[in-house]
Amino acid sequence: MTSPGPVKLKPGDTIGILGGGQLGRMLALAAARLGLKAHVFSPDADSPAFDVVHEATCADYADTAALERFAARVDVVTYEFENVPASTATLLAARQRPVLPDPAVLETTQDRLAEKNFVTRLGISTAPYEDVSSVQTLAAALDRLGRPAVLKTRRFGYDGKGQAIIREGQDLAEVWHALGDPSAILEAFIPFEREVSVIAARGAEGDVTCYDVTENEHRDHILKYSRVPAAIPPALADEARRTATRIAEALDYVGVLAVEMFALKGGAGDSLLVNEIAPRVHNSGHWTLDGASVSQFEQHIRAIAGWPLAAAVRHGAVTMTNLIGDDVFGYEKWLTVPGATVHLYGKSEARPGRKMGHVTEVRPAAPPPDQPA
Ligand code: AMP
Repeated sequence: MTSPGPVKLKPGDTIGILGGGQLGRMLALAAARLGLKAHVFSPDADSPAFDVVHEATCADYADTAALERFAARVDVVTYEFENVPASTATLLAARQRPVLPDPAVLETTQDRLAEKNFVTRLGISTAPYEDVSSVQTLAAALDRLGRPAVLKTRRFGYDGKGQAIIREGQDLAEVWHALGDPSAILEAFIPFEREVSVIAARGAEGDVTCYDVTENEHRDHILKYSRVPAAIPPALADEARRTATRIAEALDYVGVLAVEMFALKGGAGDSLLVNEIAPRVHNSGHWTLDGASVSQFEQHIRAIAGWPLAAAVRHGAVTMTNLIGDDVFGYEKWLTVPGATVHLYGKSEARPGRKMGHVTEVRPAAPPPDQPA
């Protein structure tokens, strides 16, 4: 599946976005700042992105007539989540609408096994993993990888959903049936020192820019804090950016992607293992909205519009705090914190685990001693 011809949008043109969550909302806001319009397609009438767009289509991803109308009204199509049904992307591509990043990327990134095989073929390290499809293959894989190990469904896993840690004494049949999905992978449990990610943008001409490496802290499997720069040695940070660049190039990617990695300390020195690729703007890049001269959302819009990418300059040390579920009710306190910038997504119901907003705090770098403040 290939997208037609090179894209070169002009101000006033329209970007079609599949998905209406907070990522779609922030993409639409970034597009508006560049004089571009956004048309969001989402099956959810309560989509946070609908509040800020030029046009909205509320229809199912399988609604062919609605997709046809959407395709006719936009100049390029992108997506804010990786589980776009393949049939939706195929229909849009058949309407000669450029879809960026190319939906072929989704075949690799929607499936943990295909993704890990792809990364391994590039000579990039991941946690040791095995394909498992039954209690028997799980038992055999566990003999090789040892306990603890992490069992993950191949598809549709996010925020720790669709995965289980297998520890000593646990009953395999029970774990397997609780997972409820016959296509899975088993990974060795990695005693990582830190979780980090790289947000990379690749332009239509193949140029790549990476933001500084971000360090991520999760609570209950959901990202809670991102801090930049990550507290890892400079050589490891360079390697992380090179790894993300190689992945973006190998996918012939256009747009922003995130590569999540584990940073390890071992006898042989510091090292990185790639955990996951997200073919979209990513929560660990939200700090760029206030902490860099150009945000990940604008970089993505620039890339898919066929515009030059920015050489993003970071404004200082940045912390991003996610407001999850009830956290959002503290927004008034956050509004008064010096240096904090509050982003609320306009979601109506603060369900547990739901990302409701985030706050960025930037501490500007001190000026060099020989320069006036
Ligand atoms: P994932 O859905 O693959 O992003 O995993 C969610 C979280 O589970 C990660 O952010 C890690 O904190 C943890 N995790 C995933 N895979 C492993 C692993 N192989 N070893 C240790 N922790 C893991």
